[in-house]
Amino acid sequence: MSLETTRECPECDEETTFWRAASMEVHIGVKAKWRCSECERTVVTIGDGSVDSAAAE
Ligand SMILES: [Zn+2]
Repeated sequence: MSLETTRECPECDEETTFWRAASMEVHIGVKAKWRCSECERTVVTIGDGSVDSAAAE
């Protein structure tokens, strides 16, 4: 898994660069926390990159 990714930021309302803030292994894959380089919003993804909105802070 790379240290950065490009994805749609719900705060910026456009594609931005996200930096990986943390990651851990869970039973369904790798759970990673990403931080938007523009607004510092964090997004949590699991496995293939689907967003875990329940874990968002
Ligand atoms: Zn953003």
